[in-house]
Amino acid sequence: MPMPEALRRFDIAIIGAGWAGCAAAVTAVARGHRVTVYEAASEPGGRARTIAGRNDLPLDNGQHILLGAYRETLALMREVGIEPDTVLQRLPLDLRWPDGTGLALPCSCRFPSLATAWGILRAKGWTWADRWHLLQTAMHWQKTRFTCSEEVTVQTLCASLPPIIQRHLIEPLCLSAFNSPPEKTSGPMFLRVIRDALFSTRGSADVLWPMVPLGAVLPAPALQWVSRHGGQVHLASRVRSLSRHTDTAPWELEVTPKGTSTVSARHDRVILACPSWEAAKLVSTLTAAEVVPADLSWAQDARALAQAAIATTYVWCPARSCAGLPAMQALPDSDNAPAQFVFHHAHRTRLMDGQPHHLLAFVCSHAMEERQVMEARVLQQATDQLNLTELILERTVMEKRATFVCARELCRPSPRVLPDLWACGDYVEGPYPATLEGAVSSGRAAGMAATAATDGADQLLST
Ligand SMILES: Cc1cc2nc3c(=O)[nH]c(=O)nc-3n(C[C@H](O)[C@H](O)[C@H](O)COP(=O)(O)OP(=O)(O)OC[C@H]3O[C@@H](n4cnc5c(N)ncnc54)[C@H](O)[C@@H]3O)c2cc1C
Repeated sequence: MPMPEALRRFDIAIIGAGWAGCAAAVTAVARGHRVTVYEAASEPGGRARTIAGRNDLPLDNGQHILLGAYRETLALMREVGIEPDTVLQRLPLDLRWPDGTGLALPCSCRFPSLATAWGILRAKGWTWADRWHLLQTAMHWQKTRFTCSEEVTVQTLCASLPPIIQRHLIEPLCLSAFNSPPEKTSGPMFLRVIRDALFSTRGSADVLWPMVPLGAVLPAPALQWVSRHGGQVHLASRVRSLSRHTDTAPWELEVTPKGTSTVSARHDRVILACPSWEAAKLVSTLTAAEVVPADLSWAQDARALAQAAIATTYVWCPARSCAGLPAMQALPDSDNAPAQFVFHHAHRTRLMDGQPHHLLAFVCSHAMEERQVMEARVLQQATDQLNLTELILERTVMEKRATFVCARELCRPSPRVLPDLWACGDYVEGPYPATLEGAVSSGRAAGMAATAATDGADQLLST
């Protein structure tokens, strides 16, 4: 007699070991299923991974921060044995420019709404009328439960706010959370982020800054946990194609481990945890082979997502020059000054010409320029706005497809592609823009759905 589905241990393939794939793998293993992770790169972590700088210096693939509101990510870290406080430094949210204008919030305040109101009332460079207008707008958003109609952009939503508030607050918030300017960003999604970060629970607005290379914050410990609990992890192994048979373990994957020839592997269920464009390619191979209906629009939806770049310029600065620079400094950007933030890694020092130097990371969201142009402008911006000179360029990490553009009325691909094929990742339909928390929560949901009996899986994804 066949085993009831609810009691079966499924053999699940997870394609991709970014933060979403790691979350899916831990979730499925924790629920007692057999998991095999295939990752094309030799390092896990995807867009949020550790890379090598010069002289093997570990760098992040772009400066990343987490927020206190990243509940699922922090819970997953604990589940795999990483106490967040040991690897993340908690900082108050501070969006003030070098001249002190703008919003700063107290750290870990017990009453977030009051802390936000307090920050608004104390903001420098804004008139009382500006502050009052912003407070009233925030109260209106609270009253309407942080909702608005789907066709509204952030620009429309905030059109009545004074220009100085738009320039000092809305634009930097929008660029840092969405990597897109207000005119291109979804209003309802913006309100959701504002609600969760600024008006939800104690510490939700706090910035959590990685003190160790990104790979050590979650991806490496998560995969070690998966291996220790019986899962298999294949790094440097790209999945080339998928096909589906009608017998048991219906999914066949063609996998090419780096430097060797392609092998095939069979699994009961598959989770696509690769980026949208890769997932679209794999799903298209199924449509071409007539495994799935030709009118399945999943691959089209995934392929249609517009992408935006982020550039991070890492430089070394003489310690004496940057002594007064805070850990996170907001910067006024313009056509000639592309960075919106600089992060001062005072804990990462290097002796150069006998002088201690600190690592600085300049973040240019929605980056449009070529690398060399960007670098020259960032160095000039550092001199003009922060009076920093004698900077030594380490490397600019240019991620052309850093995040999908969270536009209004966006049609994001569903997490369920077929009854036994799921997708997860920051781009999959969900409550967040392209963030680590979006990736982790979608990975968690896919891991739950792929381990449920067929009828339960659909229910899990719809909750
Ligand atoms: C420069 C930069 C700065 C950012 N800053 C922040 C920030 O401060 N805060 C924040 O919350 N978010 C930030 N983000 C966004 C965040 O990095 C992403 O939302 C998140 O990493 C996406 O994770 P993911 O698992 O969905 O996808 P990915 O990270 O893209 O992972 C997909 C994985 O699949 C693998 N893969 C692809 N194809 C195949 C295949 N055929 N076979 C096997 N494996 C495959 C890839 O190698 C990759 O490891 C930033 C992104 C960038 C690029």
